[in-house]
Amino acid sequence: MMTSNLSVLGSTGSIGKQSLDVCRKCGYTVKALTAFSSVDEIEAQAREFRPELVTLVDEKSAETLKIKLKDTSVRVLSGIDGVCECAALESADTVLNSVVGMAGLKPTLTAVRAGKKIALANKETLVAGGRLVMSEAEKYGVKILPVDSEHSAIFQCLEGKPSNKALKKLILTASGGPFFGKTRDELKTVTLESALKHPNWSMGAKITVDSATMMNKGLELIEAVWLFSVKPSDIDIVVHRESIVHSAVEYSDNSVIAQLGLPDMRIPIQYALTYPERYESPVDELDLTELGNLTFYKPDYDTFECITICRDAITKGGLYPAAVNSANEQANLMFRKGEIGFLDIAERVRKVYETIDCKDEYTFEDVIEIDKLARQMVRGD
Ligand code: NAD
Ligand code: MG
Repeated sequence: MMTSNLSVLGSTGSIGKQSLDVCRKCGYTVKALTAFSSVDEIEAQAREFRPELVTLVDEKSAETLKIKLKDTSVRVLSGIDGVCECAALESADTVLNSVVGMAGLKPTLTAVRAGKKIALANKETLVAGGRLVMSEAEKYGVKILPVDSEHSAIFQCLEGKPSNKALKKLILTASGGPFFGKTRDELKTVTLESALKHPNWSMGAKITVDSATMMNKGLELIEAVWLFSVKPSDIDIVVHRESIVHSAVEYSDNSVIAQLGLPDMRIPIQYALTYPERYESPVDELDLTELGNLTFYKPDYDTFECITICRDAITKGGLYPAAVNSANEQANLMFRKGEIGFLDIAERVRKVYETIDCKDEYTFEDVIEIDKLARQMVRGD
């Protein structure tokens, strides 16, 4: 099903804004917008796109927005329930979820149950509730199209097929982040400012810190397990500093197919919306001769231990990935607030993973419960 009417959840974020740029270029109609509390930004978006519905999670901000948009016909809601209303809005055929964190899980499930096509940037949704989301998607006959560049690349290499018998493994590329090549000793004293300096991508603060710890690659490994029905052991991670090869797949005859392009999220965002068609893009052409060389390395698993924690968590299964994800959300936040050091992030996530007791089978309520517990454990209260 082609997209024409869109709800954009998390529209004021890095992916949200680039998605609206794609909507402008492709001429999609935006029916709903949501954000946490950015009144002015979402007001400007609402005035430009004239959606039916806008939600700010924060109640006070939503009240202010309501007054500001009084002269328009835009309806304003608040809370996560408001986000879910945007996710289920009848007039939208597609929901682009670019909320950050597992807060996006309820809206994703709501959109699936409302039969919407999902363009999913919010990877924490699949990490925390992969089994719930995928089984509901199957039940409601809903397509989940990846926006994450690596997963979009794999999806493209698989020619859109969800699984392929001849598929041997997935090769997930990683930029290595700002701290590639550093030793644990050097990482003891790194600052937030240096962690926020990603070499290739301009992204929200949480995912940029996740790239510095390489937790992002661990989360993406789990995301790939759910999206492509593969075993964790069938996913290789390769550091590729230039972020030109966005990922690859290897078939049983050892033929490797990769997807390449400049590092610009508007390519995977647009493909999730135009699939199976391709439209022209505002992103520049890739000139391989200008690049000259592309480099590939093995990840340093000892220094960036979050990758291994994630691999172990998804191998164990059940609620372990949810617990690890929530522990990371909390530890990442504490690092950004200056409350803990950089290496403490992985250490606290590991401690939660090693000590928490997780169920095999779970419901949405179980995910919420383990989220609370994991965060408490990281805070130490
Ligand atoms: P961001 O921080 O720039 O934006 C997040 C958006 O979510 C904002 O609109 C914010 O208002 C909203 N939000 C924040 N907390 C919320 C909450 N509790 N409930 C509802 N809404 C909330 O983040 P981003 O970089 O755009 O990333 C969004 C998602 O996309 C993340 O899951 C990230 O991992 C994924 N992703 C991002 C990129 C990228 O290039 N930025 C690439 C791949 C995947
Ligand atoms: Mg990615």
